[in-house]
Amino acid sequence: MTDIADRQFGEPATARRLRPFGESIFTTMSALAVRHSAINLGQGFPDFEPPEFVRSAAKRALDGGFSQYGRSFGLPEVNRVLSRQLLGTTGNEYDPDLGICVTAGCTEAIAAAMLGLLDPGDEVVMMDPCYDSYAACVVMAGGVPRRIALSLPGFRIDEATLRGACSTRTRAILLNSPHNPTGRIFDEEELAAVARIATDIGCIVISDEVYEWITFTRKHLSIASLPGMSARTLVLSSLGKTFSCTGFKVGWAAGPNHLVAAVRAAHQFLTFCSATPLQQSAIAAFANLEEYLPSLRSDYLRRRDQMVHGLQQAGFSCITPEGSYFIVAEHGHLGLGTDIDAAQTLVREARVATIPVSAFYGDPAANPHFLRVAFCKSDETISEACRRLQVYSRRRGQG
Ligand code: GLN
Repeated sequence: MTDIADRQFGEPATARRLRPFGESIFTTMSALAVRHSAINLGQGFPDFEPPEFVRSAAKRALDGGFSQYGRSFGLPEVNRVLSRQLLGTTGNEYDPDLGICVTAGCTEAIAAAMLGLLDPGDEVVMMDPCYDSYAACVVMAGGVPRRIALSLPGFRIDEATLRGACSTRTRAILLNSPHNPTGRIFDEEELAAVARIATDIGCIVISDEVYEWITFTRKHLSIASLPGMSARTLVLSSLGKTFSCTGFKVGWAAGPNHLVAAVRAAHQFLTFCSATPLQQSAIAAFANLEEYLPSLRSDYLRRRDQMVHGLQQAGFSCITPEGSYFIVAEHGHLGLGTDIDAAQTLVREARVATIPVSAFYGDPAANPHFLRVAFCKSDETISEACRRLQVYSRRRGQG
């Protein structure tokens, strides 16, 4: 009663549990980029086209009878392709019909995992900085986010800190490697620590691996491939980053059948199935993966080095990423205040949009003095963005 009355008298319509999250930083910064005609190095999407073999497969599917709902948890052939693929990357056999659920992007896989697995009060441990949907999905599912920070310098997983955040109430540890926004690829020692803790307390690991193929310093290692971990790990990934088609929104969750059954239980009522013609393109995408990977890696390595160099020329100190398509760059030399102030000033005055890294922390007062810069952009875009930042930085220096 009072709730309805309150809302009639001006309380926001948004449910209380979602209000603290406000608008996603990606929406905010992309809108500011449009408003100021800025180059958008904020939201992580490529400004180039997906490879031809992906586009033509999607077009063929549009003309080839794939316009109706598909099987809720994935088109049979798509699940078979994913199962083969995952055998190669994790060494684990995921049952195509029971151990894989295709979703509307990895973001839906995260939501479906939380909604399908959490009972009220269940805790999920996550490591700041982390992707903004993690905590929101836990809260939507009635769970409780337990946020710890990766330790500086270097954004490492500290075993004692992680263990300290875990308890009998912990249902899952959320892991993301290669890591958004820092570009870390967690090493074997760090993954082994997560595995030890999860095994000791008997919790699940939910492992977001969407940047698995964009790696520079060492190969990505899935925690699901560590001894004993396949039985307690949900591996989440998508087509979007690997095949430069973030708008296709084709993702998946793979794991032991009982965990995937929980994901499916939620997924069937969220989206029922992801877009069938776009799912269909996963078959051609993975058929070409081996041939495509060398150019994917060398293109991203070139873009990364070009961006790091350009940012350094503009006075930023950068953490060179081991993987992913993001760089975190320290903006203190510009004297623009907090991360949020700096991102807002730069989009307006330098006409370059970035993401304030503080948006990836639970504590609203966290001000790590980093901006996240996406380099999934053409050479021309990167070079023009760096030029603008260099001009702006020189102007500030003289000011
Ligand atoms: N994962 C992408 C990023 O971190 C954005 C996803 C989104 O816009 N919600 O930039």
